[in-house]
Amino acid sequence: MRRISVLGATGSIGQNTLDLVARAPGEFDVVALTGGRNVARLAEDARRLGAEIAVTAHEDLLEDLRAALAGSGVEAAAGQGALVEAASRPADWVMSAIVGAAGLAPGLAALGQGATLALANKESMVCAGPLVMATAQRHGARVLPVDSEHSAVFQALVGEDMAAVERVIITASGGAFRDWPLERLAHATPAEAATHPNWDMGQRITIDSASMFNKALEVIETKEFFGMPPERIEVVIHPESLIHALVGFADGALMAHVGPPDMRHAIGYALNWPERRALPVARLDLAAIGQMTFRAPDLARYPALRLARDVMAAGGLSGAAFNAAKECALDGFLAGRIGFTGMAGVVEEVLDRVCARLGHNDAAMDLDKVLAADHLARHEAERVMTERAA
Ligand code: NAD
Ligand code: MG
Repeated sequence: MRRISVLGATGSIGQNTLDLVARAPGEFDVVALTGGRNVARLAEDARRLGAEIAVTAHEDLLEDLRAALAGSGVEAAAGQGALVEAASRPADWVMSAIVGAAGLAPGLAALGQGATLALANKESMVCAGPLVMATAQRHGARVLPVDSEHSAVFQALVGEDMAAVERVIITASGGAFRDWPLERLAHATPAEAATHPNWDMGQRITIDSASMFNKALEVIETKEFFGMPPERIEVVIHPESLIHALVGFADGALMAHVGPPDMRHAIGYALNWPERRALPVARLDLAAIGQMTFRAPDLARYPALRLARDVMAAGGLSGAAFNAAKECALDGFLAGRIGFTGMAGVVEEVLDRVCARLGHNDAAMDLDKVLAADHLARHEAERVMTERAA
């Protein structure tokens, strides 16, 4: 039996992961499941799957979690330290599906005990790609991509020589507002931004899809994951979300990964890797689909893509600052403090203020430095939003 843990088990990726685990009875031994405020869901899944331990990120919910697990034999724990401790428990495979920079420390802990890390938490790569890769290497651990685009690239690269790769193209649906007139965007509400045309995902990534901050994070993730030079990473809008990414080779060939917009494909690929096994995802009927369309992204509509280029050029800790500023700006948008189009403005201003102060040296990157850059950027983002409201 393979020992597995799921960090962020109560979220969209976490629940899809547990769906696949539950479909393979007797194959997996569940070590740790972690979640946030939804302790009822967490406890129910931990009981059902016979987990060793369930952890909520919130210390004030420890008693609720204990009560929900009473008599089950599942251990209960709470707080950031407990998350890291749970991730450090010996396991063969750990899903990293916490949302935001909060996923970094538990993911590093999982790599530290040698587990294969299935990485949905793209923020880990954006904030600290060199640190994640170095930690994996030091402990003989592997990182497998779960973001659909990166899983697609990973699959297109099987058996290929990286030296023959000319470019990587990741696709973007364009999000909720791809066809809105630009002048309407300033007044878009969180509820409107949280409706994705093709994918069913958590609230934060869905809004990041509408602003394309998600794609901006993914471009940086592509650079870090595959060591691709930024100028060889392209983004194309593909409203149907059927091709997830393409790899272009020196001979002009493009290898595309095509599949239904169902995250259980990328999760299942990482779960079964290096094998391929049957997965409960829809099979595409290409004749019924009829056509797939593509267009270039409009940088006026999606300034986040331009910011991603600046961040890759700056390197080092600027990714941590970028992600943190983006998380704060998203909180500000959700709280009604800034408008939809204000998010990119806040992030850009934070980068202007902090990047020069951060310094950058990938080799010297450690968790403390990444967290310090994250805190500095959050602090500046607060100031920028307060100044703008005044
Ligand atoms: P979600 O909001 O649905 O779930 C997030 C999970 O993290 C929940 O279990 C929540 O309790 C937990 N969590 C939230 N804040 C936390 C904190 N501060 N500390 C500890 N735990 C915390 O998110 P999601 O859509 O499942 O996304 C998870 C990750 O996967 C994100 O990094 C996202 O970018 C990435 N991802 C998601 C999808 C998707 O289809 N949903 C696709 C590609 C990548
Ligand atoms: Mg993606």
